[in-house]
Amino acid sequence: MITGRVLLLNFSYEPLGTVGVARAMCLWFRGSITVEEYDGDNVLHSPRETFRVPSVIRLRTYINVRRRRNESAMKRARIYIRDKYRCQYCGDHKHASDLTLDHILPRAQGGESTPQNLCAACIKCNQRKGNRTPEQARMPLLTPQKHLNIGLDHVLLCHYAESKPEWKKYLFMEDFEVSSEQIAA
Ligand SMILES: [Zn+2]
Repeated sequence: MITGRVLLLNFSYEPLGTVGVARAMCLWFRGSITVEEYDGDNVLHSPRETFRVPSVIRLRTYINVRRRRNESAMKRARIYIRDKYRCQYCGDHKHASDLTLDHILPRAQGGESTPQNLCAACIKCNQRKGNRTPEQARMPLLTPQKHLNIGLDHVLLCHYAESKPEWKKYLFMEDFEVSSEQIAA
């Protein structure tokens, strides 16, 4: 139970990410957050008290996280999750260790390292494509590039939320499921 994840919301209710239960309890004791949802009837015991385990917490003050999120080291993992661990060229499912991040428009042709220009590709396809666009290499993308333009933070949270129904209303899951189907199509 102490190993679970807690959804962390900004003061504005915008999802920021997840923290471990221990960290969430720490923030709670420091008075930094309010608890929005509890994790069912799960409780934690201290020598003197019993605490309900939080599942969704919200910061008491607003923090501006835009810059930090764009620089997130989690970008690679989030893109793999978004692309469902499939090479976006041959469609093979792969382990993360067998995937690479491909620049759809190659860096050599001015392609940026933005989520919309990055996709999961197996090593073989990445090498075959080289410094060419999908059109030049005649390697069409499995997912139309416009569908890659969804928030990566959202993707990760929805991935976690599959086992956390109480998170859904904070993540607008229904909207997301529509785009998720579009991506799979
Ligand atoms: Zn491939």
